Amino acid sequence: MTDPATDHAPHQTRTMAADDAGLRAAVEVLRRDGVVAVPTETVYGLAGRGLSVRAVQNIYAAKGRPADNPVILHVHDEAAAWPLFAFRDASEAIACRRAEALARRFWPGPLTIVGTASAVVPDVVRAGLPKVAVRVPAHPFARRLAEALNEPFAAPSANLSGRPSPTSAVDVGATLAGRIELIIDGGPCARGIESSVVDVSGERPRLLRPGALSVLELKRVLPDLDVRPPGLAAHGTDASPGLRHKHYAPEGGAALIPASWLASLWDDDDTGIIARQQDVVGLRTRRAFVAVLPSDADGYARELFSALYRAERARPARLVVVDVPHDEAWIGVRDRLLRATISEG
Ligand code: AMP
Ligand code: MG
Repeated sequence: MTDPATDHAPHQTRTMAADDAGLRAAVEVLRRDGVVAVPTETVYGLAGRGLSVRAVQNIYAAKGRPADNPVILHVHDEAAAWPLFAFRDASEAIACRRAEALARRFWPGPLTIVGTASAVVPDVVRAGLPKVAVRVPAHPFARRLAEALNEPFAAPSANLSGRPSPTSAVDVGATLAGRIELIIDGGPCARGIESSVVDVSGERPRLLRPGALSVLELKRVLPDLDVRPPGLAAHGTDASPGLRHKHYAPEGGAALIPASWLASLWDDDDTGIIARQQDVVGLRTRRAFVAVLPSDADGYARELFSALYRAERARPARLVVVDVPHDEAWIGVRDRLLRATISEG
């Protein structure tokens, strides 16, 4: 038997378009428990058969992902999602109603529902936790893939663990070229940051990870949603283990600065800057690297990760990211910024 931990290396990485031939090739790789980078509307995912222990181990190996960070299962429609949860007990009736209300409003889309797992979900998918995370993606290729497979696929973001999530096929290649055999190029991701993750079990539903959906939208369906401030350990890392790890850091590091500090950097051509349009009006452009992002939260989210990868390629002596507003509309983005810019100590 092959050791799953060595299945990832080394590979000649092919890129194919998100068309019928790409779908056939992706299904072929997945059927033999391989992994494929695929487009979704949030970020590119590294897909593997979600109920196959070996395939999920191959995802972890290709990413270098810590084994205590669970992966999300992707299915093509709501009906395919419910068998993954254990909603049959009376004690789960409220959780079930919450899940159904969320699914009706946000699926297909960038919402991940966490609830008690049914027996079909292997331990390795849940990183040993009693709960499972499930999503119906809106991206047509991702849905067609789940439908063609006729089973869920697991997919964390398609990057080496700890690095920014990729929102283009080229940015997938930046960290996974040579480690996976196939990338499906579906163009840039419409949302640009990961799904919002909501745990429907427990006394109150909890936002485990802020993401592409605004808190305002989520609260319209779940008015008692428990939301904590962005950053590390919003709900304690036991509930959402992904938050335990350093994440999203560009190579070379980055510092988060308030917009008021920008003036002091005006003549410093060695410092690369990522900032909102409204904060850099009139900025001189001789400097090593400047990414000017949209001033609204959705537009900014769409372009943030690609700006981090562009900064890596430009290699400025240092990189600063100008802070964004601290209100609810920016919770998902700020969570990414805080974690991309924390120092390792
Ligand atoms: P990623 O696959 O990198 O988008 O990260 C998935 C994230 O979803 C994890 O890091 C967790 O924060 C959350 N998640 C996934 N599965 C579970 C689960 N079974 N229980 C709680 N949170 C989960
Ligand atoms: Mg990730």
